[in-house]
Amino acid sequence: MGVEVPRFKQVSEIQGLMDKKEFIRNIGIVAHIDHGKTTLADSLLAGAGLLSPKMAGTARVLDYLDEEQKRKITIKSANITLLYKTSENAYIINLVDTPGHVDFTGRVTRALRAIDGVVVLVDAVEEIMAQTEIVTRQALEERVRPVLFINKIDRLITELQLTAEQIEKKLNRIIDSFNDLVELHAEPQFRSKWKVKAAEDSVAFGSALHGWGFTLGMARERNMKFQDIIKTYQKKEEANLPPQMHVHQAIFELASKHLPNPQQAQSYRVERIWKGNLDSEIGKAMATCNPQAAAVMCVTNVQAEPEGTVAVARLFSGNIKQNCKLFSPNAKAEMLVKRVFVNMGAFHEEVAEVSAGNIVGLQLEGEVKVGETLIEAKEREEAVPFESIRYISEPVVTVAVEPKNPKDLPKLVELMEKLAAEDPNLTVTVNRETGEYLLNGMGELHIEVTLNQLKKEAVDIEVTSSSPRVVYRETVTVKGETAKARSPNKQNKFTLQVDPLDADLAAQLDMDESVKDDVIGVDEFRNA
Ligand code: GDP
Repeated sequence: MGVEVPRFKQVSEIQGLMDKKEFIRNIGIVAHIDHGKTTLADSLLAGAGLLSPKMAGTARVLDYLDEEQKRKITIKSANITLLYKTSENAYIINLVDTPGHVDFTGRVTRALRAIDGVVVLVDAVEEIMAQTEIVTRQALEERVRPVLFINKIDRLITELQLTAEQIEKKLNRIIDSFNDLVELHAEPQFRSKWKVKAAEDSVAFGSALHGWGFTLGMARERNMKFQDIIKTYQKKEEANLPPQMHVHQAIFELASKHLPNPQQAQSYRVERIWKGNLDSEIGKAMATCNPQAAAVMCVTNVQAEPEGTVAVARLFSGNIKQNCKLFSPNAKAEMLVKRVFVNMGAFHEEVAEVSAGNIVGLQLEGEVKVGETLIEAKEREEAVPFESIRYISEPVVTVAVEPKNPKDLPKLVELMEKLAAEDPNLTVTVNRETGEYLLNGMGELHIEVTLNQLKKEAVDIEVTSSSPRVVYRETVTVKGETAKARSPNKQNKFTLQVDPLDADLAAQLDMDESVKDDVIGVDEFRNA
């Protein structure tokens, strides 16, 4: 396994495997920021021969925007197709990258539509954090099955200097808290089946940075215990660990044995994410991942590239070739497929055809937005779109953007709208009173990254922006505690308590347009 197969050879092998659904896994890695997701993703690429092992941890192949390189956070979801070979079988692992920063939660959500399983990565020192819970909950809501990878075990040994017994206790605590999340957020029919168990090898442990990892099954086969790993670190011989148990091997074990193939997953996912008639031809085709039926897919990433719109989509049924005509029921528009490819990191590898259950790259003639459904044009009468992807958060931070020279405004607005089409968590609105164009995003970082991208794309335009404004509204729903304070001279006492507004008055205020910003959509503004 993990052999370095030349890229062109891999493409033909991948093509040959695309029809064998039992050997396909569509997976992602989700984590709280800084827990080590990118480091792990790089190890997986190295394991599949797409990256020199020496580069893993520094190359950050899935992070391909400059902005991300600078900030060392993953912003855009990229995807990559990996070929993984065991002594008996070969697997296609489609790895969809998901950003970890809370400002980009929306991007995690749409990546989840494309995948059937996630590796939830948790830092062994920090344990489960807020963002771990949010992304795990989002995965469960999309019926994406989780497995657990506990990372940074090296820190328990070298920094915290825990004994083997203390390590095991800490790891068990993490597994228990993770299973509490499954209990809380999974639907009843998945609750017990989807809990992870170290003894059943649905949990792996390791150090992505040092390149090793194992499930208990792998450790047993190698006669390896935590005590042996501690000793290895004490002797400073940790470089000997990866050859015995590569971290990518542990992850591929989790994925191949515990995460569903697309056929298994679609049998229970389609009813959750698509509201068409499950007894219709298309409903049945999607639930069975039938490659012989009409092509139906969900777009999970869109990028405007020089050669045209490039979309990444999860194909739920049928197959797709060059010159196929697709129809978008949301936009009520047809578009032509100019090229079909699989993404192998920085490379698009053109292929003749991709069939149901896979993740496909498409160069399209026509416009398409993230989250849209595409269906073969000849079936346009049957087209029922996927459920819209639900975002747990809404855009709450706003900046007003304008060009220094007013004549550049139309061009700038066009660029802003293009960015919004690529990013469902970004909206462009207009303040009707002032005529200001507003960019609305998930948080300050999201807005900052977007503004930088806008400035880079608006090459000849000098762009100015206001400071960010939070448009988030909160209200009091229950009577609060009483807070008391005294003035410095002790002569005055203050008592403060918050109380919900009288329901009639609250409803009246909510109706009163004068207390809201007078903001409308760009199209509405143009037509007004
Ligand atoms: P991400 O934000 O989840 O993508 O995290 P990164 O992969 O960028 O890792 C965050 C930091 O943790 C980096 O400095 C990594 O070198 C470090 N890191 C990642 N994995 C490990 C690990 O297994 N052990 C230790 N000690 N550090 C790690």
